[in-house]
This record gives sequence, structure tokens and C-alpha cells, in this order.
Amino acid sequence: MRPVLIYPLLAVCLVFATAATATSHLASGLTVILDFRGAHSDSSIREMERESGSILKTTGLKLDWRLRDDAPKSAYPNLVVMTFNGNCKFLPAPRGYDEFGPLAFTETTDHVIQSFGQVDCDHVVEAARSAMFGADYAHAELLVGRALGRVVVHEIVHMLTRSAEHGRDGVFEAALSGRQLIAPSLPLSAVDADRLMSVMSGCESEQ
Ligand SMILES: [Zn+2]
Repeated sequence: MRPVLIYPLLAVCLVFATAATATSHLASGLTVILDFRGAHSDSSIREMERESGSILKTTGLKLDWRLRDDAPKSAYPNLVVMTFNGNCKFLPAPRGYDEFGPLAFTETTDHVIQSFGQVDCDHVVEAARSAMFGADYAHAELLVGRALGRVVVHEIVHMLTRSAEHGRDGVFEAALSGRQLIAPSLPLSAVDADRLMSVMSGCESEQ
């Protein structure tokens, strides 16, 4: 397995798409398994889930969030797994991270996009922190959650559309700045929403 695209600095991700199972019967929603490998904040995670749902609301896609350890062993009809590496909790001081790596990426095997995404939490948190100023610090955990939600949605779009191509604006741009990650709004563009809805309806467009 290897990430497909490695963008410098704040590139959001990189690869794309998903296992076939993730696009079947999407009318029933998409289960997102969360696998945290480091520290994380409950309030940030709640905001991540809220922000993700808010961005995808226009597409009609419903997300069902499950922690890996709490997820029943039964099979889900539509499933993606997001692994969060590093520390997902806000820290006011800068810390080390791989600034040349992506914020997140979706795994591929033999050029086929899988349903497994990896988030570099240290990178996302630092990108969000670097864009904060003044009153932002008073709700830093919320802003980190917002950033995580946007990164997760970006990867989910790759997975479901099975495309490495990015949008021209919005949350599916090739690279997102720290300011975009914590801005009051960063929607999925109408074009990208249409692409996603086409997949959900079983009418994938040519890539
Ligand atoms: Zn991407």
C-alpha cells in the first residue's frame, strides 16, 4: 500500500477513492470507522463529525461514526476506515511534524483506491494552530475538530468518487491552507457535490 500523491506542506491528500463496497447502497449511508492511534479530544471529535455532516448535507449522504473498538463485528454495507496518527489534541505551542507530507491520504493497492484513509493529526493540528489568532484560541479544540472534519470529507470524496482529481474550489481543492481549515465555512463545491451524488445514485461520470 502506498499513498498516491504527496503534496508539499498543506496538501490535503492525495489519493483516492474507495473500495467497491463503499459505493454500494449509499442511500443507507456510509459508516466511518475511527481509529485513533494517539491522543484526541472528545469535543474536537464531536465537532469533526458535525462539520463533516454539515459539508455533506447538500449531497444527502449520511455518515455513521463508529470508534474502531466499539464497532460491532458485523459487516457494514458501506464502510470506510480513517486512521488518525499522531496527536489530534490541540496544543498552543508548535510541535514537530512532517511539513512536506500530506495532511491525509487514502491508501491504494495496485493503483486501486481503497477504503482506508490516514490522517496526520500533528500536521492538521499544526496547520490549524498556525492560522489561529486572538479569540480563536478560546475555542481552539472546536477549530481543530473543524479542520479534521474538512480533511476527512476531502478523503471520503476521493474514496467515493474513486478519483484523484480535485475540485477547483472548496473542501475538495488539492491543497488547503490552515486558514481554509478553520474558516467559518468551507463547503463542497456544487460541481463536486454533483459528482458525489452521481456516484451515490449509481451513475458515475467518466473521469
Ligand atoms: Zn486530495
